[in-house]
Amino acid sequence: MAAMLLLNPKRPLPLPLDPKSRELVEKTIAFFETKGKSALRRDDLERVWYADFLAFVKKEKLFATFLTPSAYGAASRWDTYRNAALNEVLAFYGLPYWYAWQVTILGLGPFWMSGNEAAKKETARLLEDGGIFGFGLSEKEHGADIYSTGMQLVPAGAGTYVARGDKYYIGNGNEAARLSVFGKIAGTDEYVFFAVDPKRPEYELVRNVVASQSYVAEFVLHDYPITEAEILLRGPAAWDAALNTVNVGKYNLGWGSIGIATHAFYEAIRHAANRRLYGMAVTEFPHVKRMFTEAYARLVAMKLFALRASDYFRSASREDRRYLLFNPVVKMKVTTEGEKVIDLLWDVIAAKGFEKDTYFEMAARDIRALPKLEGTVHVNIALIVKFMKNYFFAAAPYPDVSRRDDPSDDAFLWDQGPAKGLGKIRFQDFAPVFAARNEPNVAVFREQTALFREMLMRATPTEEQGKDVDFSLVVGELFTLVVYAQLVLENAKLLGEQGANPDLVDQIFDVFVRDFSRHAVDLYTKPASTDAQMEYTLKMVRKPVHDAARYERVWAKVHALKDAYEMNP
Ligand SMILES: Cc1cc2nc3c(=O)[nH]c(=O)nc-3n(C[C@H](O)[C@H](O)[C@H](O)COP(=O)(O)OP(=O)(O)OC[C@H]3O[C@@H](n4cnc5c(N)ncnc54)[C@H](O)[C@@H]3O)c2cc1C
Repeated sequence: MAAMLLLNPKRPLPLPLDPKSRELVEKTIAFFETKGKSALRRDDLERVWYADFLAFVKKEKLFATFLTPSAYGAASRWDTYRNAALNEVLAFYGLPYWYAWQVTILGLGPFWMSGNEAAKKETARLLEDGGIFGFGLSEKEHGADIYSTGMQLVPAGAGTYVARGDKYYIGNGNEAARLSVFGKIAGTDEYVFFAVDPKRPEYELVRNVVASQSYVAEFVLHDYPITEAEILLRGPAAWDAALNTVNVGKYNLGWGSIGIATHAFYEAIRHAANRRLYGMAVTEFPHVKRMFTEAYARLVAMKLFALRASDYFRSASREDRRYLLFNPVVKMKVTTEGEKVIDLLWDVIAAKGFEKDTYFEMAARDIRALPKLEGTVHVNIALIVKFMKNYFFAAAPYPDVSRRDDPSDDAFLWDQGPAKGLGKIRFQDFAPVFAARNEPNVAVFREQTALFREMLMRATPTEEQGKDVDFSLVVGELFTLVVYAQLVLENAKLLGEQGANPDLVDQIFDVFVRDFSRHAVDLYTKPASTDAQMEYTLKMVRKPVHDAARYERVWAKVHALKDAYEMNP
């Protein structure tokens, strides 16, 4: 059977997990399969708060086990690798379930980063009791501009404060045991993170901003009293904690997309392969074959990249901060790839994708959310571009990062240190990773990459072009694709046949060559591109190498998934 890398709830989990973690992930799958698709869809359409899921979380101590660092829990650890498995399963059954977990993760960040031991112990206890958490960063007026945060702690004498202000788009704001809230100390404008209990009378839950099972709150704090016991972080440490928490959350977004796209893929291929038009299966149309093969190649690449980024994240240290490039790529690239997968599948299944009893109808709506959370795609590309110079022109030696599926606690996540200094981060030379492969489309991609690098060297974007975000976003897309392709190849090597055999690697790079060409054309057409840059971009436009036999072999594996999975009714 092909596609052992993709999650299939009817088969053993695709990747190894220690017995306790596997049991919990399998119980989570069983919870949803027992609930069944019609109840899942009914709750979604009627926007039912997921009390049944939270009762399951409490009973199994799911979040307590997965989200408490070992130092604060007897049987717990924070392990990005196994968290990814649960991330994927939750999104596979629906974004709202995933979102309850995701905002709990974000909410916990400032607690686990804090030096306030009493607050940390209390957090562990609340998790043990089945509590969920929330992260109060965003405000209605300020969006991505968190420098302008308006929430204030106003000094009220004897080391106490009152919190005044409102927050907007805050997940779990209705039911969280605690929220970590970001603000400034009035008078000094010092940044601060403090703990808020939504049950206190000074907390006003204004409304749910979205029409969904999830509760994305607007809330107001009306002179909410705060003592030192509730202060988690102050000054630069609070600012760093905001960004460092988002670094953790960003990583999960990719898995949200992978889970959604995987379930949608099974549903779509099952429908198309079993539907007959003009006396033949829909999957016999050449364009349908092409769309499924491309969707599959994109999906496997998403998973290969996200898994490899976990290796780097888990191996990170103050000296090796490469995750600060790879996590934003998970965020912006894996999630936008998820959108492409859904677009391809939807073009095939057409009307079926609107039916209210399909998973697909939810997927088509929810896949759009992931690129927009935790900073938009633009914000993340703007970040990614900062690494480009060092990535291409200042490689540094590092020991190779191995696969990190070991059951250890990722303590570094809470000790990431100052968020600055991105321009100093260096990377291993990417060229040998590409040079080691023999697939024809990897070779074409290598040539495209070399031209891009040459363009950066000989027709270097000017300072003015760098300030033109519309221009640098396209440069950023080209750069991102190189980084993405590098880690996909690294993982194809590490996971061997289970990840992607040479046929599939070549198919994935068929997609990458076309994407690279498309971005090159986009750069060509930008008002700011110079003649020299335009000349390079035209050279970067390349056609993938078509190998009919390889394509048919990959398609046969894709087609074999037609009856692989269907959710219990
Ligand atoms: C369903 C949902 C749940 C959410 N949950 C939470 C939560 O639990 N906690 C929380 O704190 N927040 C939450 N958010 C807020 C979310 O993180 C914000 O939507 C996000 O930060 C972007 O802000 P914005 O959408 O208001 O866009 P804006 O900040 O208004 O951005 C407008 C445009 O400007 C661009 N832009 C802004 N800054 C830059 C830049 N530096 N470089 C390039 N382009 C830029 C953006 O890409 C965008 O196109 C949630 C949002 C939603 C929709």
